[in-house]
Order: sequence, then structure tokens, then C-alpha cells
Amino acid sequence: MSNAEKFDAIVVGAGPAGASAAAVMGRAGLNVVLLERGDVPGAKNVMGGVMYGRMVADVVPEFWKADPPLERVVAEERMWLATPDDVLSVGQRTTHVTHDDGCPNAFTVLRAKWDPWFAARAEDAGAFLVPSTTAVDVLWDDAGNVCGVRTGREDGDLYADAVVICDGVNSFLAKRARLEGHPPEPHHLALGVKEVIGLPAEVIESRFNLERGQGTTIEIYGSVTQGHSGYGFVYTNRDSLSLGVGVLVSHLMRTKRTPYDLLEQMKQHPMIRPLIAGGDVLEYSAHAIPEGGYDAMPRLYGGGVLIAGDAAMMVNGLHREGSNLAAAAGRMAGETVVEAHRRNDFSARSLAAYEAKLRDSFVVKDLVKYRHLPAFADRRPDLFEIYPRLMNRAVHEMLTVDGLPKRDKQRKIARDFLAARRPLQLVRDLYETWKVIR
Ligand SMILES: Cc1cc2nc3c(=O)[nH]c(=O)nc-3n(C[C@H](O)[C@H](O)[C@H](O)COP(=O)(O)OP(=O)(O)OC[C@H]3O[C@@H](n4cnc5c(N)ncnc54)[C@H](O)[C@@H]3O)c2cc1C
Repeated sequence: MSNAEKFDAIVVGAGPAGASAAAVMGRAGLNVVLLERGDVPGAKNVMGGVMYGRMVADVVPEFWKADPPLERVVAEERMWLATPDDVLSVGQRTTHVTHDDGCPNAFTVLRAKWDPWFAARAEDAGAFLVPSTTAVDVLWDDAGNVCGVRTGREDGDLYADAVVICDGVNSFLAKRARLEGHPPEPHHLALGVKEVIGLPAEVIESRFNLERGQGTTIEIYGSVTQGHSGYGFVYTNRDSLSLGVGVLVSHLMRTKRTPYDLLEQMKQHPMIRPLIAGGDVLEYSAHAIPEGGYDAMPRLYGGGVLIAGDAAMMVNGLHREGSNLAAAAGRMAGETVVEAHRRNDFSARSLAAYEAKLRDSFVVKDLVKYRHLPAFADRRPDLFEIYPRLMNRAVHEMLTVDGLPKRDKQRKIARDFLAARRPLQLVRDLYETWKVIR
């Protein structure tokens, strides 16, 4: 790369956000470079593994017909409330696994396979992917607008009308581009650890009662996080399971536990052990998740610069959504740059259209809806233990046929609840929870 190279746009990071932005701009005929620090996209990226088809299709129309590396199409989603001995399961199994146009609603992926495929679609659209290249700083013009990036390569300054920052959680470039207001606090970040456990496809299908190609997701709240706010998960891949746990960094700092330790114990849970029995650990990884929500978001644009995805705190932890917010925001960032290119105006005022698009979409609407959840989760880790325990005991009581009349059982359950929480505390817990998720 020579000193004076100038592009229409530079995208930093070839995850879901960056690949989406690059694909949209490339397709519109812009001269786009997509920088990725890994040897290949996805080399080090970590995700539980559930992607959402609609946001991918918005970038790569009818992608499901192009032989994408999907692991399994999700047909069943379960939520478990766990104690050390039992789980209370709620969920849905559906035959409606696709939207009307055939686009799969949700599917599992392994990022080491998915990211190269998705980035290749950006290349098909005309973007120029440059792997093994880290952006180490942004460049400024005399008017105070971002006009490029400095890469770690020799003579590696690259210039562009617009830079789209998609470098993931703890974005270094957000700071350099003066978008980050204040550094994230420990309760704005969760730490996720994950193992991929290999098992034959038939074994997975039999253990999860699945048809070929179909998958199950299980989110596990309660004892598996051992008093930390967060949850565990088990997702089915073609011939492996993705198993992990993610909890708030602020709680890990207090308890001095490691998430690896939590994961090891989760694997011993009597309902999880049989699911993974006989499997080989193929992969272990750990990664931060930006869960600070709306109030912890950076500024989303400036002169010559936009930011999308994890780099901008766009994760909806409650619904286990991040990749889709990233892809949607990346697409909108790309569209904004295309429009700015037509006007030949990359000023902050011109790029403000990006924030307007985001505010009008599910991305910011959902983050606003749950804006008080991060602080609540930080304040009330006890809820992650108390209620799964009480609810399991209540259901167990009602399902135990021991000659005790049902009304007496109900009284026993009520006494159990009141022994754990006074009536006012129960009402307050319910009200506070409702307030943050309504
Ligand atoms: C344990 C765990 C489980 C999760 N489970 C789910 C799930 O099931 N479903 C879901 O939707 N979301 C999930 N998420 C969240 C999801 O992974 C992210 O929200 C999503 O990957 C964000 O995409 P992104 O493109 O913004 O960032 P990333 O996917 O992190 O991509 C950033 C890219 O930028 C590159 N990069 C970084 N710095 C530089 C630099 N300076 N120069 C060049 N390249 C750079 C990185 O190598 C990477 O390729 C999970 C996250 C974790 C950690």
C-alpha cells in the first residue's frame, strides 16, 4: 500500500458490521477497502452462535440460496431456570423456521466459517478485503474531519472520504476518532467463555430430538452463573455443540471467580452433562460482550467517520442479539456513506442521517427500551438465584404426588416465597423487573 492511496471509504473490521457496511458500499460502486487484523475474517472472533437471517438478507439478498455455512436452522428455543438439581424449562418448538420468502429466521454458525463467507460476499460486491492489517489510528484533515486510517504496515496510511469503524468491543478507534464519551464501566461489559464440543450429527439429533439440519438453542439462567448476572447457553451446530457462559465483569471483579470456572461447573450440571457426554472439546475461547446498552453508546458519527456494531455498544443482551444489530447498523452506515458520496458531503451534518436511520430502526429502539437493564442487572444479581430456586421448588411441589391436597401445596409454596422475600420485596422485585423490560 502506498502513501497516497485514497478510497471512497475505509471499513475497519470484517465482522458482521464491517462486512455489511463494505458490501452495501461496494455494491453501490464505491471504492471500498475492508481492513481486518486477522489472517482471515473470523479467525479470532467469538460468538455463542445464533445469527438472524433477516438482517443478513438485507445485505446479501437470498443469501440462503448461496450455500452459506449455516450449522443448523433453529427450530426450538428453550429458556431454562436452573438450580443445581433441576431446571424449569419454557420455550417454543416451531415448524415456522423461515420467513415467508424462505429466509431462515435464526440459525447457528461458527464464526471461523461464517465470517470468511460473509466477507467474501462483500468482496463479490466490489469491496477490497485486506487481511492481516490492523488500523492503529485515524488520520485527520485540516478541517478536523477524519480522512483515513494509519495501519500497522510500513507506509500504511490510507485515505478516504469516510471511515466506518467496526472494530468490535473495546473499540480502540472509537477513542482515537473522539467518538467515545467515557470508557466503559465494568458493568457495561460481560465476559463470555465458550467451548465447542464435537459430537456426531446423529447423536445431537437424537439428544435434542431434532430433524436433520434443525437446531435447538438453550439459554440457562440461575445456578449456572453462581450469583453473577448473566446466563449460560447450549446451541446445536451440525456436528458440535457451542456451550458457554457470559457474566458481568463487575461481578467477576467482586467475586474473583473466573468465567472458565463457571463453565467447568456448568458442564457438570445434571441436565447439561448428558447433552455433552462423550464429546470432545474442539475449541475454547473467551471474549468481552458490550452490554452497557443505550446509555453507554458512543457518539455514532463525526466528520468523515461512523461507528457500528459492538464498537458502538449495540448489543441487546436480554434477547441474545448482537450480530444482527451489527449487520443492520453496518448496512445503515454503508447506505449513509453512499448517500453522502452522491452529495459529495462527508461532514458531520451530512453523516447525521446515520443516527436518524438507527433511531428509526429496531437497533436503537430496542436499546432504548432496555436502557435501564444493565444497571439493574449489576445491582440485582441476587434475582438470578432467588427466583429460579423458588420457581423450581414451586413447580416441583405441584408435580410431586404425595397425598398432600393441592391447596395445602399452594400454601406451602406461598410460605416458601414469603420466607425468601417479604411481600413488599416480592412486589418491588416484580415491579422493578417489569419496569426494565416492559
Ligand atoms: C460469548 C459470546 C456469545 C455471543 N452470542 C451471540 C449470539 O448467539 N447471537 C448474536 O447475535 N450475538 C452474539 N454475541 C455478540 C456478537 O458476537 C457481536 O455482537 C457481533 O459479533 C458484533 O459484530 P461486530 O462486527 O460489531 O464486531 P466483531 O464481530 O467483534 O468484529 C470486529 C472485527 O474487527 C476486527 N478488528 C478489531 N480491531 C481491528 C483493527 N484495529 N484493525 C482491523 N481489524 C480490527 C476483528 O478482528 C473482528 O474481525 C455473542 C458474543 C460473545 C462474546
